[in-house]
Amino acid sequence: MTHDAIVIGAGPGGASAAIGLARAGLRVALVERSEFPRRKVCGEFMSAASRPALDALGVAAKWDAAAGPEIKRVALFMGERVVTAPMPVSGGHGRGLGRDVLDGLLVTQARRCGVEILQPCRATGMVREASWHRVTLVAPQGTVTLAAPILVAAHGSWERGPLPTQAPKLQGPGDLLGFKAHFHGGALDADLMPLLSFPGGYGGMVQVDGGRLSLSCCVRRDVLMRLRQPGDTAGEALQAHLMRSCRGVREALGPATRDGPWLAAGPIRPALRPCYADGIYRVGNLAGEAHPVIAEGISMAIQSGWLLSRALTGLDPTDARARDAAGASYHAAWRRQFSTRIRAANAFANLAMRPERFAGLGRVIAAVPATLTLGARLSGKVKPVC
Ligand SMILES: Cc1cc2nc3c(=O)[nH]c(=O)nc-3n(C[C@H](O)[C@H](O)[C@H](O)COP(=O)(O)OP(=O)(O)OC[C@H]3O[C@@H](n4cnc5c(N)ncnc54)[C@H](O)[C@@H]3O)c2cc1C
Repeated sequence: MTHDAIVIGAGPGGASAAIGLARAGLRVALVERSEFPRRKVCGEFMSAASRPALDALGVAAKWDAAAGPEIKRVALFMGERVVTAPMPVSGGHGRGLGRDVLDGLLVTQARRCGVEILQPCRATGMVREASWHRVTLVAPQGTVTLAAPILVAAHGSWERGPLPTQAPKLQGPGDLLGFKAHFHGGALDADLMPLLSFPGGYGGMVQVDGGRLSLSCCVRRDVLMRLRQPGDTAGEALQAHLMRSCRGVREALGPATRDGPWLAAGPIRPALRPCYADGIYRVGNLAGEAHPVIAEGISMAIQSGWLLSRALTGLDPTDARARDAAGASYHAAWRRQFSTRIRAANAFANLAMRPERFAGLGRVIAAVPATLTLGARLSGKVKPVC
């Protein structure tokens, strides 16, 4: 055995689990394939519901110092419609922080807590042997094998690959692809986070750190293919579609310049998944993924990492029965905390992608903007896990 626990993936889910496990006294290895800092497809908004978990992980002060303005209002940008309403509040306001900053901040804390960080290093195989997991890693220096009784899969849900916890490669016209870009000099109010509803997709905008505006969205593959003209990149075609179909986007991006390329990921497959299976714990998107229309994935990833580390605290890592019992209690706690919002986000996303069907609800929202506040509340923005 080389460690008590191996965590694959240093996104918010994996890094949080690693910090929690190291603080519980375990010898932890955290494996990440990318070098940091790196940008990532993500809207980068974090609701205040994750603040108690950030506190418990010892990174709340750093997050406070780095994150963008407080988001006090939510909005709907749909066609020519722009409706705003107050964001529900619980123990503070949510804020945006670029993933190039947030993920590095969490990994630095993991290192400080004694976690061994293997980066850049890609996990290419996992084998269960009696009470152990053997994980094969490919690093620039060569191939390494680690072994531990606790294995946490936190590599996200969008990439296909050889790991048994990665989804098979499937493609279809209805696939939902994720996109994101940063802009400087935009005209979006600093305290506002609009939901964008446009034909074939949905998205969001928010001001993050350093005066950057983060625009992210999901779009159906078949719609994107129809939008692309010869010579267009997918991101440029999408940006033009957004500006044509949403007045709010047109006004916010009118004076802005893009900072870096459009990034793409996916297809994304929002779903409830087992949080513990085949002796492997899963956190973040791998445990369950809500449509990003509710902008809760980072928060859920951090909270799930914290929940798992709580379930494993005080356990003898070599006791297989205790590990199974912890897996069952973690799964139950996860479902209690997050499953309702995953189902609600699914229904809402399917409406938001079809403005023609969403029009009725759009009129209700315009007449009663508090419906937006209620929606944000239902998405879990005021439901901290600890
Ligand atoms: C368009 C869009 C907008 C979004 N906007 C928001 C938002 O505003 N707010 C919000 O809260 N959520 C948002 N989300 C969701 C959020 O991005 C995810 O839920 C969150 O990133 C999940 O975190 P994670 O730790 O599970 O996985 P990830 O963040 O995907 O991290 C996984 C890590 O594992 C690494 N990895 C992968 N494979 C391997 C391997 N084989 N070996 C080693 N390392 C590996 C990856 O490099 C990565 O660093 C959005 C998503 C999309 C698609």
